[in-house]
Amino acid sequence: MRIADFLVPRRRDAAPAAAVSGPRIASVVAVELVSPRMRRVILQGETLSEIATVGFDDHIKLMLPDRALFSVDDTDGVQWTRRNYTIRRFDPASGLLTLDLALHGHGPAAGWARDVRVGMVVGIMGPKRTRHSAGGRDGTILIGDETALPAIGRCLDEGMLESAVTAFVEIADEGERQEIGLRACDRLTWLPRSGRAAGDAGEIVSALRQFEWPGGDVRVWIAAEAEVARVVRAYLIEEEAVPRDHIRAAGYWRLGVQDGGLRLK
Ligand SMILES: Cc1cc2nc3c(=O)[nH]c(=O)nc-3n(C[C@H](O)[C@H](O)[C@H](O)COP(=O)(O)OP(=O)(O)OC[C@H]3O[C@@H](n4cnc5c(N)ncnc54)[C@H](O)[C@@H]3O)c2cc1C
Repeated sequence: MRIADFLVPRRRDAAPAAAVSGPRIASVVAVELVSPRMRRVILQGETLSEIATVGFDDHIKLMLPDRALFSVDDTDGVQWTRRNYTIRRFDPASGLLTLDLALHGHGPAAGWARDVRVGMVVGIMGPKRTRHSAGGRDGTILIGDETALPAIGRCLDEGMLESAVTAFVEIADEGERQEIGLRACDRLTWLPRSGRAAGDAGEIVSALRQFEWPGGDVRVWIAAEAEVARVVRAYLIEEEAVPRDHIRAAGYWRLGVQDGGLRLK
C-alpha cells in the first residue's frame, strides 16, 4: 500500500489546528540511546509544528513500515503497523517531536526502534489527549514501567503539574535510570526488576506499601503492563482506600499480546 493512500499532509497554508487528528508524514532527524533499552527518536515533518499537546501523557499513533523506508515515493507494497507512543518532548517552534521507545526485544515497533536510522520515514496520527493531565490539588502519584517513563519524564522535566509529584518507575535494571529534572517538591523512585520478568506487580506494590500516603486531594496515574496496572489499581482501592475516581489506570501493553494496550479506568 502506498503511503499517500492514507497519509494526507496538511497544506503549508492551512490554518493551524488546535488539535491535530489527521495522519502526517515525518522523518527521523536524530536517534539516540538514552539507556541500553530505551531508544530516543526525534521526528520532524512539514506539518508537525501544528501539533497541540498539553498533557504529560498525550500520545500518538506511530505508523511504521515493514521495511526501512527513506522516501514517501517508495511505499509500494509496504505494510504499516500502528502502535501507541507518548510525546516525550515537543518543540512547536521547530516542529521537533521526541519519542522514547522501549527496546523490549519483540514486536515490529521494538524492532523498528532497534534498527532506526536518520532519514527514515514514518506516519503519525494524533496526538490523543487524555483527561487526567491536571493532577491532584495536594499531590499526584505517577506509577509505571518503562513504557510509562516517557510520560512521567515529560511531566517531571517540564514541571507540568502544580502540585508535588511522586513517581515510581519500574525498570529492567539500574542501567535504565535516566537523568530527569525534579523540582524540590518532586520525588522519583526507581524500581529495578534486576532479572525478574516484566509483568509482575510485586515490586511496585511493595514500594507503595512503604510509601506514606499524603492526605487531601491526591490523584494517581498508572500505566504499565495491563495485569500489573490492574493489580496496582486494586491494591490502591482495597488497601490504601484511594477513591476509584482518583485513579486513572491504563495497560500500556499486555504480556503475550500484540498491541495489547487498554484503558482500565
Ligand atoms: C497510550 C500509550 C502510550 C504508550 N507510550 C509508550 C512510549 O512512549 N514508549 C514505549 O516504549 N511504549 C509505549 N507504549 C507501549 C507500546 O505501545 C507497546 O509496548 C507496544 O505493544 C509496542 O509494540 P511492539 O510492536 O514493539 O510490540 P507488539 O507487537 O505490540 O507485541 C509483541 C510482543 O511484545 C510484548 N511487549 C510489548 N511491549 C512490551 C514491553 N514494553 N516490554 C516487554 N514486552 C513487551 C507483547 O506482550 C507481545 O508479546 C504506550 C502504550 C499506550 C497504550
